Amino acid sequence: MHAGAILFLSSRQELLRDKVAVITGGANGIGAATARLFASNGARLVIADIDDESGARLEAEVGGPAVCRYVHCDVGSEADIVRAVRTAVSEFGRLDVMHNNAGVLNGRHPSPSISSMEAAELDFLYAVNVRGAALGIKHASRVMIEQHVQGSILCTASVSAMVAGLALHPYTITKHAILGLVKTCALELAHYGIRVNCITPNGVLTDLLCSVGRHLRHLEIRDEKSCPGSENCEDLRKMLAPEDVAKAALFLASDDSKYISGHSLVIDGSFSAGAVGGL
Ligand code: NAD
Repeated sequence: MHAGAILFLSSRQELLRDKVAVITGGANGIGAATARLFASNGARLVIADIDDESGARLEAEVGGPAVCRYVHCDVGSEADIVRAVRTAVSEFGRLDVMHNNAGVLNGRHPSPSISSMEAAELDFLYAVNVRGAALGIKHASRVMIEQHVQGSILCTASVSAMVAGLALHPYTITKHAILGLVKTCALELAHYGIRVNCITPNGVLTDLLCSVGRHLRHLEIRDEKSCPGSENCEDLRKMLAPEDVAKAALFLASDDSKYISGHSLVIDGSFSAGAVGGL
């Protein structure tokens, strides 16, 4: 094979070579799939999560401390977020990618009306889903600016960031807020060459969804058509696997998306293109 072709192929295989990433909520689900894919694309990683057992297991799985460090990080705590970002710098020397992925969907089922929603419920989801992501952007961008790194910052939104009625009120509110956060930070940080985007998936087979999935209206509608885990299913609106979402995160994290910022990359097989219930 021609040397140029080999170089091309190897660079295609390692889209994140020499890059360092922090992934919050990286111990399970979408975050864990993203950690595996980032590592197999040459990145060194900090997995920041509150699930210490799964985090430690994943650290070992993707190559151990030379490649991946797990840190306990509750994104509800600014000090924990600072520690995760600092770990990337102290262990691997830099920070190129910050994926604010940690999120919670806890709530009562069936979804309470707005008049019976409890403030504590909203506060809890806001603290993790929005405040945690905002503080992640704050501390990651500080380091990137200091280091003159033209980094990529990602958040995990949801189709509940675009349409209401799919999930509980607090979840929908917080995921809509992510879009505003991404746009406003993308505008500001473009000056430094730092990009800010979000990945916006529909239902993904993870613990988060399985804990409440049957109560979510759009999934009930899709039950007959969904074929979890089936590679052969031709219906694009089937339930996603975490790996499907990780591929979108890899694209936005890599230099292949160099001029894409302030964008919401929707991964839903057309679901949000139509009215809910019209499938
Ligand atoms: P998951 O429950 O499988 O994983 C979430 C991870 O976040 C877990 O490892 C958990 O320990 C961690 N976490 C929870 N609270 C945390 C905190 N305070 N600090 C740090 N880590 C914390 O869920 P998932 O489906 O992989 O969710 C990941 C993201 O994707 C979330 O932001 C979620 O809202 C979003 N999302 C999920 C779906 C879906 O259908 N599963 C769809 C759209 C968007």
